Amino acid sequence: MTKNVQQDSQAPNHFRDAIGVVDERTGNRNWIFPKKPSGRLYTGRTWFSIALMALMFSGPFMKINGHPVLLLNILERKFIIFGIPFWSQDLPLFALLMLTFVVFIIVFTVVFGRMWCGWACPQTIFMEMLFRKIEYFFEGDAKDQKRITQMRWNGEKLLKRGTKNIVFFLLSFFIANTFLSYLIGIDEIEKLITDGPSQHLGQFIALCIFSIVFYIVFSKMRELVCIVVCPYGRLQGLMLDKNSIVVAYDFIRGEPRGQHKRNESENLGDCVDCHRCVHVCPTGIDIRNGTQLECVNCTACIDECNDVMERMHKPHGLIRYASQEEIAKGSVKRITFRSAAYMGVLTCLICVLSYLLLTRNEVEAVVLRTPGMLFQNQTGHDVSNMYNFEVVNKTFAEQQVEIKVVSPEHITLKMVDREKSVLQLKEDDIIKGSFFLILDKKYIQENNTPATIKVYSNGVLMDEIKTNFVGPVLN
Ligand code: SF4
Ligand code: SF4
Repeated sequence: MTKNVQQDSQAPNHFRDAIGVVDERTGNRNWIFPKKPSGRLYTGRTWFSIALMALMFSGPFMKINGHPVLLLNILERKFIIFGIPFWSQDLPLFALLMLTFVVFIIVFTVVFGRMWCGWACPQTIFMEMLFRKIEYFFEGDAKDQKRITQMRWNGEKLLKRGTKNIVFFLLSFFIANTFLSYLIGIDEIEKLITDGPSQHLGQFIALCIFSIVFYIVFSKMRELVCIVVCPYGRLQGLMLDKNSIVVAYDFIRGEPRGQHKRNESENLGDCVDCHRCVHVCPTGIDIRNGTQLECVNCTACIDECNDVMERMHKPHGLIRYASQEEIAKGSVKRITFRSAAYMGVLTCLICVLSYLLLTRNEVEAVVLRTPGMLFQNQTGHDVSNMYNFEVVNKTFAEQQVEIKVVSPEHITLKMVDREKSVLQLKEDDIIKGSFFLILDKKYIQENNTPATIKVYSNGVLMDEIKTNFVGPVLN
């Protein structure tokens, strides 16, 4: 980690051709040993993370009327958000919700930079507030961790590394259980525990895979997830601009950097080139080189530099939350034309989404003419058209659904395989079937007679379907 810094001091622009996590000579991974952070922001982040983790781990147990608050069952295409169920029939709504969320992320990033990454991203929270703290507990601070890494395998190393990795895996297993609870529901996890893995082999295998993945992510991949894998991280170059708030080094105040020696500090800036901001960085970068893709805005360098400034009797904020323009010109412009345009798009999307959510039917009916059939001659003078229907109850309450044909006059509806056109749907229920529309030939004036079918749920009109009744015209 310190290697790139030393090279940087020799060649000021060298950092542009290298990344801290790769050893330039061998091309191997450069393992980062960040110094244990401390300070006001770190304490704030710790408490905020505790609140978020408490919310996340208790989330699967929270229920509204016996149903989970949040369920994202991708396999069964069933989603529950704030206790409201969404089905595959709501896919357009869901797609719009996702689009709105993406635009919100863009607006947030344009204005506030990567604040999400530092304060709320599960990867950062688990890594920095859980796994890293456990590592400091078992192996000590950065220096001790380096020492343990370099030492030959002996009792001490075996004990410290072994215990740490066992705790890491148990924690990964716990996180995997929580993650799976959001996918299949806590009730399924309870069944898995009480019935045993042999009764729920698929779920048990999924649990094992997730546990291994989380273990690899938090014990091996670490900052590589943010730098290489995360699409949000990789899109920062597109979203950030000179007015976005980022963790930034005040180069106007800090440069020229250098060790302040008695009687020689008059021409130097406030940066004493102590490298403490670099040593504490979990992604191994030097923030004094400017905004970089690797920076997850964890604020550890702000705390560290503030401590240095305090000791130097200088004001805080040599590294702080600020935009590039703010530092270079002292001007603060939070809302730019670009961010205002994004906000306009976001507002439109929120309006459309709200309208669709508010007018969303509790019951959805699909009625389609049976393919390949025109009309059938029934006994007497009657002609019929056959239709297929599918009625979905999108609520957790029972619904009494009635399908009625209201026009043209004299037309009747006859269900196939059931007496009445009233259907009883239990919660989450789907009923499929067929019916005939029947009309006496004497009332048919044209080959395609417009017809209207209405679907009522608990007496309330849910849907109106316009169709054409096909039949022969009597001469
Ligand atoms: S911690 Fe502050 S003073 Fe020290 S090198 Fe970093 S920016 Fe300069
Ligand atoms: S540069 Fe500072 S804010 Fe960015 S990742 Fe490193 S320590 Fe965190």
